[in-house]
Amino acid sequence: MKTNATDESQQLSELPTSIPDSDDVDGWITRRRTFYYPFALDFERLLSRYPPFEDYVNTTWKISEEELRSVQDKRFRAQAERGWQIPFYRRIWSATGLEPGDVDGLDDIEKLPIISVYDLRADLDEHPPFGTFQVANRSWGNETPLRLVTSGGTTGVPRPMFYPAWDREVSAVIGSRVFYLHGVRPGMIVHIANGLSTVNGGIHGMECIWKYCGAVPLTTGGGNATPTDMQVQMARAYGSDCIVGFADYVRHIGERAREIGIDPAVDLNIRIVSTMLGRQDRGYLEELYGAKVFDSYGTSEVGGHVSTECEAREGRHVLEDAYHMEIIDKATSQRVPNGTPGSIVITSLFKAAAPMIRYNTNDLSAFIDGTCECGSAMKRHDAIMGRTDDLVKIKGMWVHPEAVGEIVAGDARGNREFVCILEAVPRGRQMVDSMTVLVEALDGTDRASFASDLQRSFKSQFGVTVEVQCVSPGELEGWTEGSSARSGKTRRLIDRREKD
Ligand SMILES: [Zn+2]
Repeated sequence: MKTNATDESQQLSELPTSIPDSDDVDGWITRRRTFYYPFALDFERLLSRYPPFEDYVNTTWKISEEELRSVQDKRFRAQAERGWQIPFYRRIWSATGLEPGDVDGLDDIEKLPIISVYDLRADLDEHPPFGTFQVANRSWGNETPLRLVTSGGTTGVPRPMFYPAWDREVSAVIGSRVFYLHGVRPGMIVHIANGLSTVNGGIHGMECIWKYCGAVPLTTGGGNATPTDMQVQMARAYGSDCIVGFADYVRHIGERAREIGIDPAVDLNIRIVSTMLGRQDRGYLEELYGAKVFDSYGTSEVGGHVSTECEAREGRHVLEDAYHMEIIDKATSQRVPNGTPGSIVITSLFKAAAPMIRYNTNDLSAFIDGTCECGSAMKRHDAIMGRTDDLVKIKGMWVHPEAVGEIVAGDARGNREFVCILEAVPRGRQMVDSMTVLVEALDGTDRASFASDLQRSFKSQFGVTVEVQCVSPGELEGWTEGSSARSGKTRRLIDRREKD
């Protein structure tokens, strides 16, 4: 048969339907193994329970508080039941005198003890290498495809977490909703500048975008995978529509673009910045890129995105069909009223292998009162104000590195780069904690007056004196990257106090 251009283009247009139908598959696959991804799950069932992307916003997103509560209650009961099958929870729950059946639905959730990363670490130390908090282990490989992801690993070997197909897909579906709410649409190029390694960030982003958004992930990873200049060139060449990454690094890419003569607001096509903003300056990023910046929140332990801003950007909605969130007082572990900051405690409502039940993230935020103009009844919380374990007490006063960052960012004599160094220094016979903030001063800056002005601002904000030292642009790069470069996060606090 003669092949010509028309035939070929016809063949191409027929490509999707030319994949053998199921009868043909049986001909060349002898066993439908459950670790072959397409056979690992009943995808129809998964998508009807957890609608992705636009379908979610048209359905579950708009259900009433009562309906939501009933979905949460049902899913929570299943997670609590699962918990009793997992040695880690059985041990911790039994130790408080609880028995299976004592926790009868969401109304009883406060009976369960709160866990945190310290419990996970202890479990891993006692039961290496994978701990007892996850039922999945390597033997599950016969049952379902498994992915092993890890924490960033600032000290020692990172904490491992197994994801079977169900957990993995539900978390990708949840992420697709977040990106939809941020404006990602099919056909867009989504530049993903989160770390690509054993950490969840970049690969999770890729799975959301690629599998459930109809958009195209451009997985550049962090600066250690694709140098920043190359990131800029690729964003321009391919016309990236959206950029995803930690706010610090996204800002760095934009500033670097300017340095090499590319104005991100004019020369790049980026119109959406999807990030975990924390307390960083949204206005600055928006101006830098000429783009809309959207915030979301999540942690790797609980499975990725937990909450997100909607179009209204008046708080971050918890994706409550998949997560239950509490905010508690750090000292008393009791729930705090709306508007009062406390630690975020998350319960996953879908995880099979390693459920996180009353997991204290140590991230600080507060619930917001009232309903959102978008019409969703899903609870909202304020910006993440920092981490309770990053809070540093100096001479009796609380200092937070993120608040230091806000002050540094507000002074145009610097380039916003800074790092806080915490040391124990002798005073008389005692050792006392002292903090020095290193900031990068732009060339030509009067360093002495820059440093003393910053010192005055810190004093009025925190009520305590911290030392300020100016260094040249670029000098802090090695410090802030540190061991957290793998996750794409920037390190802002270096603790040099001796720990006994
Ligand atoms: Zn809303």
